Amino acid sequence: MNRLNYSSKFLVMIMLFAIPLGILATQQINNAFNNFEEARIQRQGIEALQHSHQLIQQLEEWRDLSALRFLSSDPELANLRTLSVNNTREAIESLMRTPAFSLDVSSVGFLQRIYRNIEKPIVAPGVEGINLEIIYDNVQVYINDAYDWQRILANRFGLLGVRDTNLYLLINDLLNDNNSLFLAQGMTRTFGTYYLFNQFIDSSGVYILEKTYTSLEKEKEKLAAKLPQLVTLLNQTNNAPVAYKIPLENVLFMLNEHLIQASELTYHWQQYYQEISSEIANGKAFEMLLLKHARNELLHLENRKRTELTQFIVLAIIIIVLILLLYTGFFYSVRNTIKQLAAAAEAVAAGDLDRRMKTNTNDELSVLAKSLDNMREQLKVRQTRLHELSITDGLTQLKNRSYFDEVMEAETNKATRGNYPVALIIIDIDHFKRVNDTYGHLAGDECLRHVATILRAHVKRTSDVIARYGGEEFAVVLPDTECDEALLLAEEIRKAVATSPVSFARQVISLTLSCGIASTIPKSRRSVVELISHADEALYRAKENGRNRCLINHQASLT
Ligand code: GH3
Ligand code: MG
Ligand code: MG
Repeated sequence: MNRLNYSSKFLVMIMLFAIPLGILATQQINNAFNNFEEARIQRQGIEALQHSHQLIQQLEEWRDLSALRFLSSDPELANLRTLSVNNTREAIESLMRTPAFSLDVSSVGFLQRIYRNIEKPIVAPGVEGINLEIIYDNVQVYINDAYDWQRILANRFGLLGVRDTNLYLLINDLLNDNNSLFLAQGMTRTFGTYYLFNQFIDSSGVYILEKTYTSLEKEKEKLAAKLPQLVTLLNQTNNAPVAYKIPLENVLFMLNEHLIQASELTYHWQQYYQEISSEIANGKAFEMLLLKHARNELLHLENRKRTELTQFIVLAIIIIVLILLLYTGFFYSVRNTIKQLAAAAEAVAAGDLDRRMKTNTNDELSVLAKSLDNMREQLKVRQTRLHELSITDGLTQLKNRSYFDEVMEAETNKATRGNYPVALIIIDIDHFKRVNDTYGHLAGDECLRHVATILRAHVKRTSDVIARYGGEEFAVVLPDTECDEALLLAEEIRKAVATSPVSFARQVISLTLSCGIASTIPKSRRSVVELISHADEALYRAKENGRNRCLINHQASLT
């Protein structure tokens, strides 16, 4: 995998896809949130409708009692009306405390107006002769206002735009049709009570009762048409819708049997009023059932939308976290590899040329690691070469003096610990100055190389070291070697040089060597100096005794 390339692609992908996807996701979340909010507000709207229905029920009772009270001085009727005024006011007070209304300026205005006006006279004083129908219509104005207010509420809470078809039909039924049903029932209650109260029905009274009867019959037909739909809306076949129909039929029956058909009006107004009121309350109860049903439907919708919203947000978070994890993982993998390489490079810089640089990957970083490792190898080779050069004599390619010093130190230390002898042969070419003078320095150099070759050919042990000790002097360090063995080797070398003259520029140059040999089991650091000086002394004696010979300094073995 090509990680860096991959990362650029990753970024481009994010730019190309993530930004539009992000916008889309934001829109989706926004939509889901709006849907959820819409359902929540609509549910609150249904709750507002439930409250307003209760108020309307109170107002209808108040309307009927107010109309009756105006034309009668019966104290019981007065009591009932006072009770109704109080109930209505209580209902309004509790509505004013409901958050949905207390914050709404037009609702507050409407409720305050009703609250003030329910005590006022219904018609101006001096027109007591006015007939019931006019008074009734006068009070009905408030109920109409209340229905208008309901429509305003429904609009404000978005209930007129409910997307669910069944709910839409239900809310429209509740807002439009029921007004006329309850108006007809209210008229039945008011006019029926009035005529029972007076024990008299005049011609206009008969006309109104018949008109009311007709309108109730019409409502019954409307309801019959609406019932199957209500059954569907409630999604059940229980007798709930029938409970809506029965109160209406009861009201019809009471009107027909007790007032229109009756020859004698023996039915008591109070009983009639209460019975019909309880039937109206039954009808209203069914209305409340429908509202409750609508509220539950919206609550389900709200919960569904909330779940959708939550799922969407959780999914979005998971995707974002995955992308971040992916990118972080990638970032750290690159960073860690770079850190490893940096640590390896620092170790190399600090001199650890054996520290390998490698990655477990197969990308640009591994290419970089290979280059760095190659550089490390090159450095190592060069360092080895430099070291070789620093310990090698350029002319003879033997080890140089400084290496000889190091080796002497190291070998004597080892021999001290191992308690074995170290032998040293110091070799000097005889009359070399003369060679230079006679054949020239280039010939002299060739002679030095020739002796070096012979030395290399005879000194075989890997632990032995040959070095160019000085100008035309050489040294051979022989660990674990006694004087006699060293002498044998020195003699071999001396003879080999003596019997192999050097050919240079068509000239033949004969060479001889003098060797000084010493061997000792070193005891201290001073042993190095002593060994060298003893070998030197032997060499000096060899020169003194006529050159071309090898001599041992036995003194050294004794110290
Ligand atoms: P002896 O037998 O007493 O050792 O006499 P010698 O002439 O060999 O000793 P001396 O120390 O007088 O001379 C050593 C000479 O070695 C002097 C110097 O010019 C020569 N020499 C030293 N190093 C080199 C070198 O690298 N190349 C050449 N051609 N000559 C060198
Ligand atoms: Mg010399
Ligand atoms: Mg010499």
